[in-house]
Amino acid sequence: MLDLVLRGGRVCDGSGGSAHDADVGIEAGRIVAIGRTGGAARRTLDVRGLIVAPGFVDVHTHYDAQVTWDRLCTPSCWHGVTSVVIGNCGFALAPCRSSDRERLLRMLEHVEGMPFESLHAGVAWEGESFAEYVRALGARPLGVNVGALLGHSALRAYVMGDGAYTRAARAGEVETMAALVREGMVAGALGFATSRSPAHVGEGGRPVPSRQARRAEVDALVGAMAASGRGVLEITPETFPVSADELAWLQGLARTSRRPVSFSAILDVPDRPGVWEPVYAQLRDGLAAGAAVYPQVSCRPMRFDFDLATGCASLDAMPCWRRWRTAPSDAARLALLADASTRRSSAARSPRSPPRAAGTRSTRSSRSPPPSTCARASRCCS
Ligand SMILES: [Zn+2]
Repeated sequence: MLDLVLRGGRVCDGSGGSAHDADVGIEAGRIVAIGRTGGAARRTLDVRGLIVAPGFVDVHTHYDAQVTWDRLCTPSCWHGVTSVVIGNCGFALAPCRSSDRERLLRMLEHVEGMPFESLHAGVAWEGESFAEYVRALGARPLGVNVGALLGHSALRAYVMGDGAYTRAARAGEVETMAALVREGMVAGALGFATSRSPAHVGEGGRPVPSRQARRAEVDALVGAMAASGRGVLEITPETFPVSADELAWLQGLARTSRRPVSFSAILDVPDRPGVWEPVYAQLRDGLAAGAAVYPQVSCRPMRFDFDLATGCASLDAMPCWRRWRTAPSDAARLALLADASTRRSSAARSPRSPPRAAGTRSTRSSRSPPPSTCARASRCCS
């Protein structure tokens, strides 16, 4: 007798085949039948009108903090996500000394738009090292599968202190970081993550630590990861769309390390049609030549919400916006808004349309708002 039957749902099995109506039979935690399952079962759920599909793996999330207090990683689980990857873009909570916790949370606050008060109240800090962090996560009854990347910015801040935010690493510091990467891989890291994106601006408008790294530092740390014989490099490139030169560097890195590289992201930009096409062509040629570099994509147009008090990391990268937001009073802000040259320079730097997934064609009119999507994604990929 089957343990469970999902009766009459619309099955999308992830094979690329057509969706079809079927029952799904489960026994001992495994799917053993798809089709007609007329026999008895210990439990039957009527799922007519619903989609039955494998859980989604979300390879780009920033649940590093939230997962310590929300074992379901809401709202992703409500959308069918059953596995999440954290540590993306190099933002992570470990390694971190207790004295540096606030600074790391401030970085998440600025880059990912997470309220500091929520982070401060919610994060359950346990230990200092990456190994202690993942061990503590593993000890919790998590509602989704969680895989953690080693975060470059956290690693730099841990090894270099405040210098992580202002300068390139010295040889000894790179060696220390490489040793921590090797340790992290032994502890179960999925790989190594970093960002070079100008959109990743931390507290006070400072670049996040990983942006101060030379390419040689990234090469060394990816080499340390690759020494384990596994792992993926996740990176948000400096250029968007990724330039031919930067992509060639990543392709070389993939070939040298023999490890895959995943970058965020390949996107279409409505007011720059076709910008993704040369990227796609270079990726395809690289794959044919053995460079395992894969783009991440967005399944929806991007939108993010922010308020004028807390600001927005992507906009904070614009000097004119930063000057306005950091003005000492509302009166000073109003004066800047009334200033024609401020308005002109702000308008000149403003994107006219949100990016969307490459290869899609918008069906929206230019006047209608884009559909909602996760604020985190837009901050990562823009
Ligand atoms: Zn990200």
